Amino acid sequence: MRAWAAGVGLLLAALAVDAWAAVEVRGVRLWRAPDNTRLVFDLSGQVQHSVFTLTAPDRIVIDVNGAQLRTPLDRLAFGDTPISGLRAAQRTPDGLRLVLDLSKSVVPKSFTLAPNQQYGHRLVLDLYDQVPSVAPELPPTRVVSRPVPVPVPVPAPIPVVSSPKSAAKATTPLPRGKRDIVVAIDAGHGGEDPGAIGPQGVQEKSVVLAIARELQQQVNAEKGFRAELVRAGDYFIPLRERTEIARKKGADLFVSIHADAAPRSSAFGASVYALSDRGATSETARWLADSENRSDLIGGVGSVSLEDKDRMLAGVLLDLSMTASLSSSLNVGQKVLSNMGRITSLHKERVEQAGFMVLKSPDIPSILVETGFISNPDESDKLQTRSHQQALARSIHGGVRQFFQQNPPPGTYIAWLRDSGKIARGRQEHVVSSGETLALIAERYQVGMAELRGANRLRSDELKIGQVLDIPAASLAAQP
Ligand SMILES: [Zn+2]
Repeated sequence: MRAWAAGVGLLLAALAVDAWAAVEVRGVRLWRAPDNTRLVFDLSGQVQHSVFTLTAPDRIVIDVNGAQLRTPLDRLAFGDTPISGLRAAQRTPDGLRLVLDLSKSVVPKSFTLAPNQQYGHRLVLDLYDQVPSVAPELPPTRVVSRPVPVPVPVPAPIPVVSSPKSAAKATTPLPRGKRDIVVAIDAGHGGEDPGAIGPQGVQEKSVVLAIARELQQQVNAEKGFRAELVRAGDYFIPLRERTEIARKKGADLFVSIHADAAPRSSAFGASVYALSDRGATSETARWLADSENRSDLIGGVGSVSLEDKDRMLAGVLLDLSMTASLSSSLNVGQKVLSNMGRITSLHKERVEQAGFMVLKSPDIPSILVETGFISNPDESDKLQTRSHQQALARSIHGGVRQFFQQNPPPGTYIAWLRDSGKIARGRQEHVVSSGETLALIAERYQVGMAELRGANRLRSDELKIGQVLDIPAASLAAQP
């Protein structure tokens, strides 16, 4: 009993000391994105802070209550950021004042982040560049300590791109543009979020950016195609914003590039994911989906109630299972996967489906490519070599090309090539997604059930998700 009391006394003393000790600012990191600059202060504990701006000259002042500076500030390279200097002053009684000197005015946003797997407490300051004469499009306020549901933008009804039906010859004459097919390439993670980390500290974010750049070069080298990088450097982009960027760039396809990690270092091989509408198709997939979605928490928007968004999206996703987007995603995913299988081991032989946030565009066919396991020592070594990165890019590119040659969006140069007989009209195929019945597919392609059964030698009308069906050629001519 006495020992217990003494223990409690010691514990109280320790708590009291902790409460009075100043929070230390132990490090400062800086990331530059195309339209904003992020400063991250690493802290030893939670803080209260305030931010205000001063003009002539432009400055930003950050007051951090009860904090002490325990890191040098003169080691930051401001480079092409609007920051020209960072100074600190210790104020009485116990405040730290940080002053940023600016070469241009910016719009600041600040928030704190709780510890995660990689970092402790952080204070984040995002400085958005002022775009002249255009109102800066700011992300929703990021409240981290007190989660507030943020309204989800309702996806506008956008014509479904490269659906099997629209890929069939159109009856109504379309304006004969010959635009490029746009492939949005999304290198996963970035900046604050390194992604998976390999045996010798190799970071997923750098490996996947190298592969993304390689893929961009290859796609751009092909007439009729244009590749746009969603992330072009080492900075973080929230997951939802990635799909928004792709949409703004007019993407016909969204390809997110990642490298896997698993608790077992022996796990190896590449995989390709499309969106699932019923959660993950396997435990591994679920684990992966969680760790990829966790990326938003690391970057700082996750605490803004992702669950609410998921619930709201659930309705949309349900409808999605019936749309051509998912069918196209599975189709292009399968082509990419079989091309990858020629140059690297596969983790799974068919396209997996999981609830990855970046795949949730209702209007753009989207796949996520796990290029290999960075947690596997051999594969991690390979993933870092230029030749393997090129080979991976070539195989992804090959799958994407095959898909679009068979399903060119109307109005594109590739559609024109195909319609003018310069590309052999490939056989039409359909990859079965969840909830689809044979009758539904027959209806969509304007083909008889018997015809469809015959072409695929089906003994029953039961379909499996991921099953590839041949669509009888006759149906292509039979226009409504
Ligand atoms: Zn990843």
